[in-house]
Amino acid sequence: MTAREPSFVAALRERVRGDVREAEPVARYSTYRIGGPATVLLPKIADDVAAAVRLAHEAGVSWFTLGLGSNILLPDLGLDALVIRIGKGLDRIERDQDTWTIGAGLPAPLAARRTAEAGFAGLHIFVGVPGTVGGGVYMNAGCHGGDWSEVIERVTVVDEAGHDSVLGRTDIPFSYRRSGLERRVVLETTVRLRQEESHRLEEAVSEMFEWRQRGTPFNQPCCGSVFKNPAGPSWKREDGPRTAGQLIEAAGLKGFTIGGAQISPIHANYFVNTGGATAEDVKKLIAHAQQVVAERFGIRLEPEVKLIGSNGEYLNSER
Ligand SMILES: Cc1cc2nc3c(=O)[nH]c(=O)nc-3n(C[C@H](O)[C@H](O)[C@H](O)COP(=O)(O)OP(=O)(O)OC[C@H]3O[C@@H](n4cnc5c(N)ncnc54)[C@H](O)[C@@H]3O)c2cc1C
Repeated sequence: MTAREPSFVAALRERVRGDVREAEPVARYSTYRIGGPATVLLPKIADDVAAAVRLAHEAGVSWFTLGLGSNILLPDLGLDALVIRIGKGLDRIERDQDTWTIGAGLPAPLAARRTAEAGFAGLHIFVGVPGTVGGGVYMNAGCHGGDWSEVIERVTVVDEAGHDSVLGRTDIPFSYRRSGLERRVVLETTVRLRQEESHRLEEAVSEMFEWRQRGTPFNQPCCGSVFKNPAGPSWKREDGPRTAGQLIEAAGLKGFTIGGAQISPIHANYFVNTGGATAEDVKKLIAHAQQVVAERFGIRLEPEVKLIGSNGEYLNSER
């Protein structure tokens, strides 16, 4: 069975309080603005997530969790999987001394600003990362030298069978841009932050935000960095291009376009949707950049963006 079946949609509507949308274009839930129709659940309360996952489990339907869709490429023909979109309703933010409990649906830039305004540092670095708190935890998103794993105390998740549990920091195998929380939905997290003078933090937040706006195609549909920066002994040159963006730029690919997808003339590791791009256009552009960089520099670039299949599966080798 798929999540498109009317009987599945009807059963889901009986079990949840949130909105269930049929044949909803998922492009509207992705910062790429790409993706075809799917059954989408917008949970109203945390219990909706557990109920939906339980129903999918019983019915043999696959599911896929989305936050603000800022690190994914969704399929042109949409999904057979149920799309669970975590946002409003799961976006509380509460403080207890220096620990903060934040719902997975709160946008990370809002969490950054709210905590910085109150004089707490640690999340302020995420002011320019346009995802949710849940997506940040799942991705172990990071910037300005920090990442989520550095502040997390615990994370509440729902597992594949629809049971929720609280995981301590040491139970989560965080690594670079990865949490190891596959096949679980993050509901909320508790972080420990450090107190700093709020006016200095707010200054830092403004600087980081402006820096973002200057260096990246901030107002064009995209997913941030397409490739991870290559690391390890295969790339030891000190004098040449080293980051993924520098390699793509040095290969002469800035501005290169396939269909509606373009390698940004502003930042070569950002591929933008110039209007009407399909997932296939973006995938072809990814393959082209990989091929040219491999030929020129002998380096295989690995995508950071998650390429999603119709069952919600990850098409890149890594999750
Ligand atoms: C302009 C721009 C700049 C960016 N800059 C950075 C940066 O500096 N550093 C960085 O690390 N990233 C950056 N990104 C990428 C992206 O914003 C982050 O990875 C972000 O944390 C993804 O959050 P999201 O809610 O959009 O997740 P989505 O894109 O919706 O999902 C990403 C992955 O997380 C999973 N997921 C989402 N929510 C949950 C949840 N509640 N529970 C379980 N799994 C979940 C999804 O299934 C998917 O596998 C940037 C993106 C853009 C567009």
